[in-house]
Amino acid sequence: MLLGCIADDFTGATDLANNLVRAGMRVVQTIGVPDEDMRIDADAVVVALKSRTIEPEEATRQSLAALRWLQAQGAGQIYLKVCSTFDSTERGNIGPVAEALADALGADFVPVCPAFPENQRTVFKGHLFVGDLLLSDSSMRHHPLTPMTDASLVRVMQRQCRGKVGLVDHEVVRQGAQTIAGRMRALQAQGLRFGIVDAIGNEDLLSMGRAFAGLPLLVAGSGVAIGLPQNHGLMPSEAAARLPVIPGPKAVVSGSCSAASNAQVVDFLQRGGEAFAVDPLRLAAGEDVVRAALAWAAPRLGEQAVLVYATAQPEAVKAVQGRLGVEQAGAMIEEALSAIARGLVERGVRQLVVAGGETSGACVQALGIARMRIGVQIDPGVPWCHAASPVAGGEGLNLALKSGNFGTPDFFSKAFGTLAQ
Ligand code: ADP
Repeated sequence: MLLGCIADDFTGATDLANNLVRAGMRVVQTIGVPDEDMRIDADAVVVALKSRTIEPEEATRQSLAALRWLQAQGAGQIYLKVCSTFDSTERGNIGPVAEALADALGADFVPVCPAFPENQRTVFKGHLFVGDLLLSDSSMRHHPLTPMTDASLVRVMQRQCRGKVGLVDHEVVRQGAQTIAGRMRALQAQGLRFGIVDAIGNEDLLSMGRAFAGLPLLVAGSGVAIGLPQNHGLMPSEAAARLPVIPGPKAVVSGSCSAASNAQVVDFLQRGGEAFAVDPLRLAAGEDVVRAALAWAAPRLGEQAVLVYATAQPEAVKAVQGRLGVEQAGAMIEEALSAIARGLVERGVRQLVVAGGETSGACVQALGIARMRIGVQIDPGVPWCHAASPVAGGEGLNLALKSGNFGTPDFFSKAFGTLAQ
């Protein structure tokens, strides 16, 4: 294993895996830290944790457990994957986890770069921009769990860790890998332990990738991934994305209420797709909606995908949340949709698209999936995967897990065509 990655959330892990595959690595994503004896054949493994907003001590404990497993597999370099908007609280968890990993690896200097210019996340003079706005002026300042009110990553990182944080600014980055490496050595000689690295375009990520060759640890969003496979002589290739394609009925389960998912449901219906709407109020009233959905789906399963969805417009979601409570409504619907996903696979579905980050987590759990091989990209950030599942048995199944706002309006129909190619 050339690269061992630790991601602080599930869809972020898939986003990273997708970029590594595009740049030529064969990648497996695991759900949590694998059992000690699990052996994986891949150039890179991404361990998906759910550690972004938990207590820093617990996030550190889980990340160190992931590190030990990756080291036991022979990982040559460790990549701590964080959000491209550097989502974190005042106490962490990026700083404490990065510092604990650096201590464990004996890493004297660690570069930090969340930039992903293709997705409008750039870092200039250590300040993070979302599109044309400073992070602190973007909608991220209102995030319910990790409000980001300071765009200076040097300051944000410094508040979270003991080691000193400096800057490798764009003036240096644009001169290429050797200059970047030289600046990192100079910062280290001055007693600094972390360096925020500027990037405003893909060429910066590629230079950075070369400069980071041989470092034990780096902290980054998914963008820097495009510059690492070149260090191992790997080039973009179709072979890296090759997956087993499992023939069988197709289905989509959508629990995301984001604007993109709403548009995708409308598009699917307009094309004449068959769909079953899950009504949260009937669920709350104790009706067996799971059974009803599966009874509806069973005679329709086949070549044409069926859709089961709870996706609704913001006003409808607010009304449901007002009646049932935000968390209760979310958990109840996730449970129902994941039971439906499981039932669909029991009834033969082998190509399954799930929309929604939390919904995907619940479905993967209900299907007993421990790891997924990452294949071809459908839309940025969303690849097809292949996984073994005790529910599917046999050759396993193909899955695509779409976080809320990803994908074009025709995603639910075009996804299956991408897999067939
Ligand atoms: P996204 O990736 O778009 O954020 P998630 O699956 O992470 O999607 O989150 C959507 C949440 O909304 C889930 O907890 C889901 O159960 C809940 N939900 C889905 N449909 C409805 C609805 N009609 N009313 C209220 N909540 C809903």
